[in-house]
Amino acid sequence: MREVITALELSELNAGVWSADGGWSRDSGGPIIESRDPATGDVLARVQTATAADYERIVVSSRAVFAQWRALPAPRRGEAIRLIGAELRKHKDALGSLVTLETGKIKPEGDGEVQEMIDIADFAVGQSRMLYGLTMHSERPQHRMYEQWHPLGLVGIISAFNFPVAVWSWNAFLAAVCGDVCIWKPSPKTPLTAIAMQRLANRVLETNGFPGIFQLFISAGDDLAEKFVDDRRIDLLSFTGSTAVGRSVGERVSARLGKSLLELGGNNAIIVDEFANLDLAVPAIVFGAVGTAGQRCTSTRRVFVHQSRARELENRLVRAYSQVRIGNPLQAGTLMGPLIDAAAVARYQGAIEAAQQAGGTVLCGNKRLPGAGNFVEPTIIRARNDWPIVRTETFAPILYLIEFTALDDAIAMHNAVDHGLSSAIFTDRLQHAERFLSAMGSDCGIANVNIGTSGAEIGGAFGGEKDTGGGRESGSDAWKAYMRRQTTTINWSNELPLAQGIDFKVGP
Ligand code: NAD
Repeated sequence: MREVITALELSELNAGVWSADGGWSRDSGGPIIESRDPATGDVLARVQTATAADYERIVVSSRAVFAQWRALPAPRRGEAIRLIGAELRKHKDALGSLVTLETGKIKPEGDGEVQEMIDIADFAVGQSRMLYGLTMHSERPQHRMYEQWHPLGLVGIISAFNFPVAVWSWNAFLAAVCGDVCIWKPSPKTPLTAIAMQRLANRVLETNGFPGIFQLFISAGDDLAEKFVDDRRIDLLSFTGSTAVGRSVGERVSARLGKSLLELGGNNAIIVDEFANLDLAVPAIVFGAVGTAGQRCTSTRRVFVHQSRARELENRLVRAYSQVRIGNPLQAGTLMGPLIDAAAVARYQGAIEAAQQAGGTVLCGNKRLPGAGNFVEPTIIRARNDWPIVRTETFAPILYLIEFTALDDAIAMHNAVDHGLSSAIFTDRLQHAERFLSAMGSDCGIANVNIGTSGAEIGGAFGGEKDTGGGRESGSDAWKAYMRRQTTTINWSNELPLAQGIDFKVGP
C-alpha cells in the first residue's frame, strides 16, 4: 500500500484541487475528507477539498487554456493523448493497485480499468485525425455545402466511485482531441485515484509543452457540484452516477439550456432460453453478477430462465457461487472484494429482506461477513419480476432468478423496468437471438448474444435508454457530443439564388 502511494506521488495529506494557473491549491478553507480502504476500513490518506474560490479559479483558467487549445490542430492534440497513454502503460500496475485499494474491486479489475484508459487513449489518438463532417449537394447552382465540427468549450465531468478513472478518460481523452478543456469532479469516495491520475497527466503535459487541459476539484459536499451543474460557462456536463442524482443534474442543465451527457444506473438482465449453452451462460452470469461485487452499472441483476432449464441453471450457479473466493482484493485468486462502504452493505441487506418479504427464496448467500471491511456474500434469490425490489437497481451482488415459458414473455419482463442499459440472451437458436436484437426485442443501449451484460469494449458507443439517461460515450461516433456542429454554405456564383426558389428581389 505504502509503495503504491509513494509510486504515485501521494502523501498523508493531499491537495484535491489542480488548476492551470494556480497548480495544486494551497487554500485550506475546504473540509478534509478521508479516503478509506473498503477492505479494511483503514484510512489510506486525507484530501483537502475545494473551496468556492478554488472552483472559480479553475473555471477562469480553463477558459484561458481553451482559447489556446482549440487553435492547435487536432492531430497535435492527439499527440498529447498518445503520450498520456504511454505514461499509463508505464504506471498500469501502480494505478491499478490504487483503484483496487480505493474501490475494493479485485486487482485484475483494477488493472483492467487502467487498460481501458490505455485503449481509449489509443482510440482518441486515431479519432484526432477523423473528426469528419459530411458534404452535401446544394440545391443551388455553384454553391458548396458542408458541415464542420468545432471544439465545444469546457467539458465538466462528474464521475461515480465504481469506475474512478476509466469513465473520466472516456470523456477527457475524446474531449481533448476534440479541442475542449475538461474540469473533473470525481467521487469523494475515490479521491486518491483522481489525484494520482491528475499528477500523471500533468507530468506528461508539462514535460511536452502542452497546456493544462485537465483540471480537477474534489468537493466534500454537494454545494460546489451543484454550482458546477448550474454554471453556464460549462458547455457540456457529463455526469456518471445514480439515476436519482442524474435526473436532477439533467433537469438543472436543461433549465439553463446547457448540454448534458447522462450515464446513469442499470437493471440489466440475461435471458437463458431452452437452447442456451450453459457452459457459456454460467460463467457469464457469475462474472456479471459477482464481478466488482455487483457494483458495475452493467452488473447482471436479473436472469430470465426457461422453465425447462431452471433447476439445472440454479444448481450450476449455486455451485459456482460456492467457489467464489471473497477477501483481500489485492490477493491473487480473490474473485470478490468488499462493497464500497457501510451504507452499501445496509442497502444489500435491505434489498434481500424486501425480496424475502415479497416471497423470494434465497438460494445462496445473504450474509454480511464478520470482521473488518464491507464484505458480503453474493446472493441468488428466486424471484418475480413485478416486485418493486426486483425493479430497483441495488448496487450489490444480488441476482434475481425468474422463470419463463415463452420468449416473448421473457422479453416483455426484461423491458418492464425503468432502466435500459445492458442486456443479453444466451441461445443457440438463431431466431431467438435475432428476435432479441430486433426492434421488438431488448430496449437497452447494449444488447449481446452469448456474452454477458458487463465488460464492454471501448470501441462501441456505451450507454443506455430510459432512466439510464440516453447518453453515449467511448467508441463509435460518441466524439460528436464534445463538439459543436456548424453547417456552412459557400456561394461561388455571381448570383444570389434563395433556397426553396423564393423570389425576393429588391431594387432595379
Ligand atoms: P452517485 O449518484 O451517488 O454519485 C455520482 C457522482 O455524483 C459523485 O461524483 C457524487 O459526488 C456526485 N453528486 C452527488 N450529488 C450531487 C449533486 N447534487 N449534484 C451533482 N453531483 C452530485 O453514484 P455512485 O454511488 O458514485 O455510483 C453508482 C451509480 O452510478 C450507479 O447507479 C451506477 O449504475 C451508476 N454508474 C453508471 C455508469 C454508466 O456509464 N451508465 C457507470 C458507472 C456508474
